[in-house]
Amino acid sequence: MSIRMADGTRNELLMNTKLINELVEVAKYSAPIHGFLVRLKESPNSSEVVTYAPITLLSTPMPKAVFLQAMEVQPHYNTLVDKISQQPDFLQEALANTITVDAFTARLFKIHQHVLKEGRLQSIVLGLNRSDYMWEQEENGHTSLKQIEINTFAAAAGGVASRMPDVHRHILKVAGQLEESQRIIDNNAAVGLAKAVAKAWELYGSKRAVVMFLVEENQINILDQRIIENELWKWNIASIRKRFEDVFESGKLDEDKRLFVDCREVAVVYFRNGYMPQNYKSEKAWEARLMMECSLAVKCPDISTHLAGTKKVQQVLSKPGVLERFFPNQPQIVEQVRATFAGLYTLDMGAEGDKTVAMALATPDRFVLKPQREGGGNNIYGQDIREVLGKVKNSPERMAYILMDKIQPVPTQNYLLRRGKPLKLSHCLSELGFFGAYVRRGKDMVMNDCVGYLMKTKSSEHSDGGIIAGVAVLDNPLLF
Ligand code: ADP
Ligand code: MG
Repeated sequence: MSIRMADGTRNELLMNTKLINELVEVAKYSAPIHGFLVRLKESPNSSEVVTYAPITLLSTPMPKAVFLQAMEVQPHYNTLVDKISQQPDFLQEALANTITVDAFTARLFKIHQHVLKEGRLQSIVLGLNRSDYMWEQEENGHTSLKQIEINTFAAAAGGVASRMPDVHRHILKVAGQLEESQRIIDNNAAVGLAKAVAKAWELYGSKRAVVMFLVEENQINILDQRIIENELWKWNIASIRKRFEDVFESGKLDEDKRLFVDCREVAVVYFRNGYMPQNYKSEKAWEARLMMECSLAVKCPDISTHLAGTKKVQQVLSKPGVLERFFPNQPQIVEQVRATFAGLYTLDMGAEGDKTVAMALATPDRFVLKPQREGGGNNIYGQDIREVLGKVKNSPERMAYILMDKIQPVPTQNYLLRRGKPLKLSHCLSELGFFGAYVRRGKDMVMNDCVGYLMKTKSSEHSDGGIIAGVAVLDNPLLF
């Protein structure tokens, strides 16, 4: 028996219209049975009517070695992010130019400085992140893993991703691919993320205290978060869900800087909102953020870990000698982390930045131009790079961006299922993310794990965009 569904078999299956139509029906009932759900766009704050979270019909083949490489490097990424967050001089130096031209990063940086000045009260650190990758086929046949970025703030979809393997396994079984169905591995992201939150809660040391999910106005993705909340209940940990405005209205610090919201002590603030400028609708939201950062509550992430996840920091890390600062005398770890880097280039003023500009304008299709933004849909590709960079190439405004090599994965074919969308065979590009979870108290790393994965697949017509943005759908790797 072959290890992988032979390409021939997969292609035959994809062309078998009758079977595909049957499998689509199977997918649409199997998804809700397994709790793989999302709220409707038109009623994002109601669970009265929900639908299946968008998915690929079939799992996407990927080399096992590449999957393992990303999984094994994850604890080192956790360590790296954590160490960056403890080095204010590094953050200051890395972001010095960016904050002169990017108002949002500058505002976050101001909070960071404020916290440093007051002195960090809480020695417990909770980090939940997701490092995202694509993989390229090199000319010599070798497959090479390339990091897109690491999300240190509100890394989403760990809850629903944990429900995905069962959906695809079931579809494959109905398709007669029994052996294949067993090749989809378990994904325990939700349990692992919750375990880290629970550990931080426990170390905080107050049985009365709750975990506060800091949530968005539009809660279409609430079920993903509820899966983690439900896991927390297994440790008898209660959670509350509040928006920035709620914290502003009903939040306060007591004389020991303990955070109370609605009269409930908060042990852990788990930010699922606050990574985009538009999340801060007024000064009240910024004041609430500052109050939480200055409190004794464990922040996930704290402001310095938030800044460690900026695209500018990612670019600075790729400069020669920088990783060595974080992993002194650990050349193997440096090598392991660096092996996942794609080319990253500065746009700071000066000769090096000028070289980047010239390179991007000459061959824009080889690159992605990235501002300091999160949430999908902000990056700039192809001819648009010429237009955007053309305007700012001689001014400090260009320092708001970094340039990155465009990763060129081999497309696969699949059906992308999303409520209300017609069925169509698409050329697809897939990305794999690994969830990292760590808890530190003082100098003591109490937990440092890779807790699960997320595969996202999109039509190759789209350069950018996430699941909630309506572009990517959830998937599972079929390892070969
Ligand atoms: P955001 O933080 O807004 O999600 P990302 O840097 O993760 O921004 O990029 C969003 C999406 O754009 C990725 O999920 C991926 O599909 C695409 N993308 C980003 N960087 C690259 C790259 N270097 N090469 C190819 N595609 C990329
Ligand atoms: Mg991101």
